[in-house]
Parts: sequence; C-alpha cells; structure tokens
Amino acid sequence: MSETGEMISLTEALETVERELAGITLPTETIPVRRALDRIVVKDQAARLDLPPFDKSAMDGFAIGTGDELEEYTVTETVPAGGIPNKQLTTGTAIKVMTGAPVPNGTAKVIMIEQTRQVNGKVRILSHTKAINICRKGEDVLVGDIILNAPAMLGPLEIANLISTGTTEVKVAKPLRVAILATGNEIVDSPEELVPGKIMNSNGPMLECLCRKYSLETATSTIVADNRDATISALREALNSADIVVLSGGVSVGDFDFVADAMKQVGLKLHFNRLAIKPGKPMTFASGANGVAFGLPGNPVAVYLMFHLFVLYAARVMVGKKHKPRFVKLPLAQDYQRRRAERMAYLPCELTRDGLLEPITYHGSAHLQSLPDSDGFFIVPKGVSKISAGQKVDFLIFKESFQ
Ligand code: AMP
Ligand code: MG
Repeated sequence: MSETGEMISLTEALETVERELAGITLPTETIPVRRALDRIVVKDQAARLDLPPFDKSAMDGFAIGTGDELEEYTVTETVPAGGIPNKQLTTGTAIKVMTGAPVPNGTAKVIMIEQTRQVNGKVRILSHTKAINICRKGEDVLVGDIILNAPAMLGPLEIANLISTGTTEVKVAKPLRVAILATGNEIVDSPEELVPGKIMNSNGPMLECLCRKYSLETATSTIVADNRDATISALREALNSADIVVLSGGVSVGDFDFVADAMKQVGLKLHFNRLAIKPGKPMTFASGANGVAFGLPGNPVAVYLMFHLFVLYAARVMVGKKHKPRFVKLPLAQDYQRRRAERMAYLPCELTRDGLLEPITYHGSAHLQSLPDSDGFFIVPKGVSKISAGQKVDFLIFKESFQ
C-alpha cells in the first residue's frame, strides 16, 4: 500500500474492498416477508404455489364448452371471484364467471360480457371471437420455480412476488450497523457555536440520512476533534459498536489529519488512501479482525460520492450482494475541457429530456449546493482532458424518477 506514492484506480480500489470483505458472514434473522423491505434474503426462494392456482377467467363473461359455439345459451349459474362452479357445462348452457373466478371443467373459452346481451335468463352472443380469456393454472409460476436468487434485496415487487407464491417468512441478513465519525476542529452541530473559523457539520447528518435511505443502521454519529488520541479512542469505540465505521475528513496530508494513523494504531490494515479520482483522492480504506473503516475526504461532494461508491458497495459485499452501479453512455451537451487529467473525474450534470448531459455550475468538491440540481455525475476518464459536445460519456444516475 502506498500512502504518498502512486494513486490507484477506482476499479482497483473496489476490487480491494471486495477481496477484503467478501468472506465476512453476518448474523441473520427470520422475519415476516411483509416487514422485510430493503432487507437482503440469504437463501434462494422457491414458489410454494402455482400461479394462477387454478384455470381462472381473465374477464367478466360467459364460459362455454368445447365445440359449443351457438348464438344463445341458458345461463345455469354465476361464479364470483373466490367462489367455485357447482354446475357442469352442457350443450346449450353457459356459466357466468367473474374475472378471477375458476372456470368450470371443460371450458373452451370465456366470452366477454361486452360481446353479449342478456335476455330472459338467456345470453345472446353478439360475436364469437378467437380470444379464450382463460389464464391457465401455473402459466406464470409453477411450484418449485425459483422466485428470487439469493442474495437479493427485497423491494415492494419482490415482497409481493414472494407472498403471491405462498412465502410469508424469510431469512434475511440483520441490518448493518454504521458508526459515523465526522472529524474536524472546525465543525459544529449548532449555529450558536459558529464562532469565526467554525462551520456547520453537514457530513454527519448527510451520512446518517444516506444510511437510513439504504437501510443501514446508524450506531453512532459524533464529531471528533483533530487530535491523534481523540481519533484513536473514537475509532476504537466505534469499531466496537458497528460493522462499518465511516469517518469524514482528516485523511489528507495536513498537519492535523490523523485518520490513517489512527486506523493503524487500532490494529486495522490500511489498504489504500490515494485514489486517481476527483473528488476523492485521499479516500481511505482499512480493515482487520476488529472491523472495517472508511475514511472519506471531508469535502461534502466527495463524502456523497464516496459513500455511494465505497460504503454502499462494501455494505452490499458484506451481505454477499455485489451491486454494480448502473452506468449508461450518453452524449454531452457541451464541449468539456480540463487542464490536468491524471485522475478520473466525476462531474455533476443534468439529464435533459432529449437524453443529453448538461454539466451544471460546479465549483469543486466543497460545492454541495450544486448537487440537488443534478441528476447524477458524468465521468471523465483518466488521461482525457477534452470531450466534444455530442461525444458519449459514462453517466451515473443518482436522481430517481419518482423523487
Ligand atoms: P479535510 O478532509 O478534513 O481536510 O476537510 C476538507 C474540507 O471539508 C474542509 O474545508 C472541511 O472544513 C470540510 N469539512 C470537513 N468535515 C466536514 C463536515 N463534517 N461537514 C462539512 N464540511 C466538512
Ligand atoms: Mg479536517
């Protein structure tokens, strides 16, 4: 590991995280599926029911038998959804079935109500069509089909799929606990403490919210002074209370940056702390028998980005679910140019309705106010200093459609 030497690439850094954390197994618990939103299922889930569970009518209409296409039928009963047919279909008779009701044995098709007229207890067919309007037993899912390959995160759709196929309890990984340590003599939590030289601690609350958003539990969130002993003892305590410790600030080469040293002092192995990425150059990762720690740079844009690229990635690796951010290639709306190109750069941009990436005003990694207006980041690879308008670049979307 080089602390002052060559910067490693993002890919190499992520591979390191994966290699170091892949073997970890976390405790599990069994909980009701309907309470398992955003939890990670640790075992493959097989269907316990066929779907549909019986031949069911796809329409409100009239069931008729095979080879019995007539102009008029006697209706012998009505089957509601949730009921079962009691009568048999015979020549000249039809059974009225509602959407979702089981069709009688021998049903050839269900004729939609809209294609019929009812007169004096009989039903007249206005036109016979080819449509069968029956959903066959097991046509969507058969008992034993794999509904979810573990590890999988449970969203509303996965939960509905499990429940519809008869699974009501699942074994899931216990939520990961994250301890947040915002380092810096300059940061305060209350405006009353804002004497000259101080700034508000926005990284702590941002990291807490990101944890909540991604279903990670915040074990603690505190400010730590730029002091070697204070950093060591805060880190030691944090490692005891959490699965992952996330620090912000104090990872650079300043006179009061103690995070990397503290990581070593508490017995962790430092894997990297110089990345060829902007923002995020001093991003630091350490792990060992007593835990996992990420030292994020102090600047808020770097914190936001590094949380997603590293902390979230690690959290997923630790529960066995490798998640890959979804990059898409889209054209830049304007020419782009930079002077130095020794690092890959992440730059905030808007995604226009026409699918173009419009860079937004951005003053650098302290400019947190630029982010709420952005849809995500476009990526300028290492070694590239010029991109022409229309040229495609990787784009990482952060803003969701329904946000
Ligand atoms: P550092 O990485 O500690 O050198 O900090 C880089 C920049 O981020 C400095 O301008 C800090 O004041 C700022 N910064 C550090 N921690 C925080 C925080 N918790 N909230 C907001 N800004 C911070
Ligand atoms: Mg600092």
